[in-house]
Formats: sequence, C-alpha cells, structure tokens
Amino acid sequence: MEIIRLVSEMQKISEGHKKNNKKVAFVPTMGYFHDGHTTLMKKAREYGDVVIASLFVNPTQFAPNEDFTRYPRDFERDCKMASEAGVDYLFNPDVSEMYPQGYKTEIKIGEVTTKFEGQFRPTHFDGVATVVAKLFNATKPDFAIFGQKDYQQTLVIKKLVKDLLFDTRIIVSPTIREHDGLAKSSRNIYLSSEEREDALVLSRALDVAIGEISNGVRNRIKINAIMHNQLRKVSGIRIDYASSALADDLSEPEEFMPDTKIVLLIAVYIGKTRLIDNALVTVK
Ligand code: AMP
Repeated sequence: MEIIRLVSEMQKISEGHKKNNKKVAFVPTMGYFHDGHTTLMKKAREYGDVVIASLFVNPTQFAPNEDFTRYPRDFERDCKMASEAGVDYLFNPDVSEMYPQGYKTEIKIGEVTTKFEGQFRPTHFDGVATVVAKLFNATKPDFAIFGQKDYQQTLVIKKLVKDLLFDTRIIVSPTIREHDGLAKSSRNIYLSSEEREDALVLSRALDVAIGEISNGVRNRIKINAIMHNQLRKVSGIRIDYASSALADDLSEPEEFMPDTKIVLLIAVYIGKTRLIDNALVTVK
C-alpha cells in the first residue's frame, strides 16, 4: 500500500490507472479504523481494479464546540488495517493541501441537509459535501463506497453527485455492528464501560420500532414515540432526534403507506458522547 500526501500526485496516479482502463473505487474516511471501515474497503475491491481510501479528519465538518481536536487518531494502526483490507493507496493529505490558503468555495446542498443531523449540526453537511467534492477531484473515482451508518450523509452525497454532475457511482454498504448490536464507530472509544452498556439502547430502540412496524404500526408520530420511550429508559440520555421518514427523501407524512421504505433515525448523547444509528424498514 502506498501512502499519498499530495493532491497532484493522487490525481496523476488515478489518471494513470484510468488510462489503462482500470476502474477506481474510493472509500473516504476520517481514520481510526474499525470493521465498518475495512468492510467498505473490501467492498471497494468488488467494484474497482484499484482501491483508494482517504484518511482525512476534515475540520470543516466539525462545529467549533465539537470533537475535531480530540477525534481519535492512530496512523500506524490505520495503515496496517487498510493494507490488510486490500487498499492500494491511502490518501492522507494535510489540511493545507485540502484547503489551500485563502480558499473561499463551499458547497451547500438544500433540503436533505436541513432536518435531523442538519438541524442539530447546521454546518456539518456543508463541510461534508465540500470535502467529498474535493476528495473526488483528487481521486477521480468511478465508484465511491459509503456506510449506511451515516444514512443522511449517503443521501447528501447522492444529491451532490447528481446536482454537480460527478461521474462517480455511489455504493451504500450496510452498517457493521458489535456482537451485541452497537453500531461500530470511531467515537465508541469515548464511552466508559457503563456508557457502553447504555449505548445498546440505540439498536434496541430501532429493533422495538421495527417489531411494532411489522405488527402494523404506520403512524409516524407513534413510531417516533416508540423509539423515544425505549431511549428514555436510560437515565440522563439526551435525545437530539428519534424519527422516522421516507427513506428516499426524508419527507415525513403523517401516516406511512403500505410497502413504502422508511428509515428510522436516532441521534443521542450518552454522557458527553454523541452517537447515531438508523435502520431501513419496509412498512407492512
Ligand atoms: P468516518 O471515518 O466515521 O467518517 O466513516 C467513513 C465511512 O465509513 C463513512 O462512509 C461511514 O458511513 C462508514 N462507516 C462508519 N462506521 C460504519 C459502520 N459501523 N458500518 C458501516 N460503515 C461505517
């Protein structure tokens, strides 16, 4: 596995492969890898002759009060894991390489960015869309693989690609979980052992709601209440949102029609750690 620091070098490498009719598959990440990331890297190999992963903790998607400076980092370990997962190139630019001095361009996407995550992290998706566009320009991927773990992000990226005419196909890969159901996340390391137990409430709330939906519940407010009731069993939990919406565009009808695909979305604080999870389900 080669480590690439410069955009110009990354572009040259990708162009070279594409001239030789090789397909490039790309996995953007912020590092501190777990099985969620390595699964995406292995999935990338199904689509690409060449697999590029990026490791870049993107400052513009963190608000000033968020965890940018303390976001977990372990470069040596990440290199080993990426290499073992079959990555050919690890693109690891400096902040100054991705944001040249005096940069003034920012991508803002409407509608899909405004609710749920967007409501609680109003600048987050601008940072995500901007950095992903830059990373696509650096790596020139035919395919880019994203995790369902960040469900709303996948909709934002699909909109980015469609609206700005990127020649990249977006692949979404299912959420990888711990044996007890907790969605894997680099941020899980922040949890104390007690909080780690409490964190199981996210997947539990999703499971209970899925069960009720399969029993025939179709009312959106009722589904949301089922999740809230489960989440509130953890004392001190702070719920940013626990909501259901149409999976395609996150719209929120009062009643979901039979056979529609919906997404259940949760974001909560367990102690000081903010965790998100989601599930896709077809209404009966
Ligand atoms: P991050 O490094 O957290 O920005 O994540 C990089 C990519 O990995 C994103 O597309 C995430 O959605 C994906 N990802 C993170 N955690 C998981 C997980 N538990 N299962 C599947 N994909 C994940």
